[in-house]
Amino acid sequence: MGRRKKIVQECERLMDKPENIRNIAIAAHVDHGKTTLTDNLLAGAGMISQDTAGEQLAMDTEEDEQERGITIDAANVSMTHEYEGDNHLINLIDTPGHVDFGGDVTRAMRAVDGALVVVDAVEGAMPQTETVLRQALREGVKPTLFINKVDRLISELQEGPQEMQDRLLSVIHDVNELIRGMTEEMDDITEDWTVGVEDGTVGFGSALYKWGVSMPSMQRTGMDFGDIIDLERADKRQELHDRTPLSDVVLDMVCEHFPNPLDAQPRRIPRIWRGDAESDLAGTMRLVDEDGELVMMVTDIGIDPHAGEIAAGRVFSGTIEKGQELYVSGTARQNRVQSVGIYMGGEREEVERVPAGNIAAVTGLKDAIAGSTVSSVEMTPFESIEHISEPVITKS
Ligand code: GDP
Repeated sequence: MGRRKKIVQECERLMDKPENIRNIAIAAHVDHGKTTLTDNLLAGAGMISQDTAGEQLAMDTEEDEQERGITIDAANVSMTHEYEGDNHLINLIDTPGHVDFGGDVTRAMRAVDGALVVVDAVEGAMPQTETVLRQALREGVKPTLFINKVDRLISELQEGPQEMQDRLLSVIHDVNELIRGMTEEMDDITEDWTVGVEDGTVGFGSALYKWGVSMPSMQRTGMDFGDIIDLERADKRQELHDRTPLSDVVLDMVCEHFPNPLDAQPRRIPRIWRGDAESDLAGTMRLVDEDGELVMMVTDIGIDPHAGEIAAGRVFSGTIEKGQELYVSGTARQNRVQSVGIYMGGEREEVERVPAGNIAAVTGLKDAIAGSTVSSVEMTPFESIEHISEPVITKS
C-alpha cells in the first residue's frame, strides 16, 4: 500500500474519534509568516517534502503527482500528528492573508475550534492581529500564540537574552490585553483564554529556519534560550531544526491546548446557532453525534478541475455520505451529495463518509454558497457569518 493510502486510512480511522480531532486555523497580520509556518507543519507531518517547505507547497506522496507538478491549494489541509503516544487528526483551514478581510476569515473561523495566532517578533501585534483575534473570539474559537521570526532578534538585531525576553514578554502582554478586552463580556468563555509561556500556550521560533520552542519543549529537549542564541549566532540552523523542530513544538501545542469537537461544540453551538436549544438537533450538535441528523456549515466553495465545485465545511452533527438528499439554507430544492472527501495535504481525497466533528469536502451541493447551512432536515440556519441580515425564505 502506498504511503498516501496509509495516511488516508489513518485519517479515516481518526475521523471517528472526536477526542483526537483538532480543527484549527492559523491567522496572522500579513507577512508575519503564516504561509511559511503552514508549510513547516505539513512537512513535519510528512505531507510535503522537508526540503521544499518554506519555498513552495509540494506534495511528497505519489511520484506522478510530483512529476505532474500539481500545485496545492492550501485552503484546507489535514494531517496526522502523534502526541503523547496517540495519533491526532489536525484539520487546518487557511485564512486569507490579504488585507481584504471580513467575511472570509470569519467564515474560516466558523469551521474551527482553535486559532494559532502568528505574530512577528520584530513588528509585534499589528492591526490585523487584533482583527483576526476578534474574529476568532467572536466565533468562540480559542487562541494560542506563536511568535515568529525570533531568528531576526538574534542575528539581525543582535539582541541578548534579556532584551529578547523583554521583547517577547511585551508581545505576549499586548496580545493578552487584546484577548482580555475581547473576552471580558463573553459569558460563555469561563476559562482564562489569555496565553502564557508557563502553561505552554505560547511558542517561539523561526518558520524560515524551521525551529521552535515552548516551555514544554524546552523541558523535554533540555535546550534553553542561551543554547538557541548560541546556535543561531553560529549559523547552526540545521542543528537547531534537528534538535527542536518547529512542527513538533507547534503541533504538540495544538493537540495539548486546543479543544476537540466534544469540548468545543457544546459551547460554540449556542453562540453560532439560534434555533431551539431544547430540540433533538441542538442536542446532537452539542454532542457531536454522528448518528444524528446531518448538519454541515459550508465555509468555502472551491473549484476542482475534475470534480467541479467543492463545498467544504464543518460537519456539526450526523454523517455526510454520497447519495444523501440535503437541504441547503435559503433555497427551496434539495441537493444530492455526489461525493464526500477530506483534504490530505491540500488535495481532496474521496472517502465513504465524514462524521460529525470533521471538515468535509463535498460535491453535488449545487446551490450551496459559503455560509450555507446544509442539513438532512429543514432547520434554522446558522447565524449569518457576515452579519448582514438576509431575507428569510420559506421552503415548501
Ligand atoms: P504571510 O503573509 O503571513 O503568509 O507570510 P509569509 O509566510 O509569506 O512570510 C513573509 C516573509 O517573511 C517571507 O519573505 C518569509 O520568507 C519571511 N519569513 C517568514 N518566517 C520567517 C522567519 O521565521 N524568519 C525570517 N527571518 N523571515 C521569515
